[in-house]
Amino acid sequence: MRPIYLDHHATTPVDPAVMEAMRPWFTEEFGNPESPHRFGWAARDAVEAAKAQLAELVGSEPGQVVFTGNATESIDLALTGLAERRGSGHFVTTNFEHPAVLRILERLEARGFGLTVVPVSPEGFVEPRKIAEALRDDTIACSVMAANNEVGTLQPLSEIAALCHDRGVLFHSDSCQAVGHVPLDMEAMGIDLLSLSGHKFYGPKGIGALVLRRQRPRIRLAPQLVGGGQQGGMRSGTVAVPLAVGIGEAARVAGEVMEAETQRLGELRDRLLARLRAGLDIVRVNGSLERRLAHNLSVVFAGVESEAILRELPWLGASAGSACSAHEQEASHVLRALGRTAEEAHATMRFGLGRGTTREEIDTVADTLIELVGRFRSRSPVHSSVRPD
Ligand code: PLP
Repeated sequence: MRPIYLDHHATTPVDPAVMEAMRPWFTEEFGNPESPHRFGWAARDAVEAAKAQLAELVGSEPGQVVFTGNATESIDLALTGLAERRGSGHFVTTNFEHPAVLRILERLEARGFGLTVVPVSPEGFVEPRKIAEALRDDTIACSVMAANNEVGTLQPLSEIAALCHDRGVLFHSDSCQAVGHVPLDMEAMGIDLLSLSGHKFYGPKGIGALVLRRQRPRIRLAPQLVGGGQQGGMRSGTVAVPLAVGIGEAARVAGEVMEAETQRLGELRDRLLARLRAGLDIVRVNGSLERRLAHNLSVVFAGVESEAILRELPWLGASAGSACSAHEQEASHVLRALGRTAEEAHATMRFGLGRGTTREEIDTVADTLIELVGRFRSRSPVHSSVRPD
């Protein structure tokens, strides 16, 4: 079988335009952006242009963009950076954030900071009222993801930001899965700090950014990498110029194609779901189908282990509803947060469609899954006791 990749939440291929834009910056134009000569100036201008492209995509300013290695580092700079700057205080987040947020906040909690983790609804939404109830006088920041990486639900960021600001609390969003896929405007939506990763929207791996909202006084963070004082001292270390050029170009391309891509992938996603439902009697969707990334589908094939499906289909790039932790398979904390049982989580498959996905691929995957899941179920006595909801 020709490989079919439906795992674009894990990572995306580099767009050909991004590859072309990066190419000269590996070879002919190799200067260090800090060097005070022609080679350095060219690199510095390229990095500044990339910051402008990224800022344009998310509604901020080039001077507010800090390049990092990935979203994990951006989130650490935002949250640990705020905590260390303030010295004490409290954070609010939700129970279906990415581990990059949860583990960092738990580490801060172990260092004496307060932490409240707000549960999400069974539909996969953060309820602003619950965030408001969790805010305290000493809350430093609230962190809510823009789009969930497993079920794709889009969160009411503007409403949450407004509630935070009413209490003088900063609002951070891990927007990794949303940037380049849905419109985001930090200024209009009130997002004070936004974390993103290049490889989630057809840019290269190895570069992310923390973007701050333009405001006076400037948001102050304790840098996590110190040394040469690059990027205004916010993140020391030589900027990866080719990767910066790449993420900038990826932002430019995303801005251009986002609307048409959302429309096309939404139709393909709906086609996949409709075909699966027509061919199999129980296909439950995890999370609401409203206010969701158009390219995401997360479904429960009741009574069938998704790991077993994936083992049978090595040519299919998709993901199971479990997270490998060391040696054991743990049910996904996101699906558990939505109230799914461990069995349902283990029967979940996540599909992430992308720029290169075709209708033929969707039909091949749907037909194959209908045949395979049907075969597994006919062998399994469990299935007959599972009722559709
Ligand atoms: N946050 C979310 C929502 C993600 O999906 C991911 C990656 O899967 C990350 C953070 C971490 O991104 P990176 O591995 O690029 O640091």
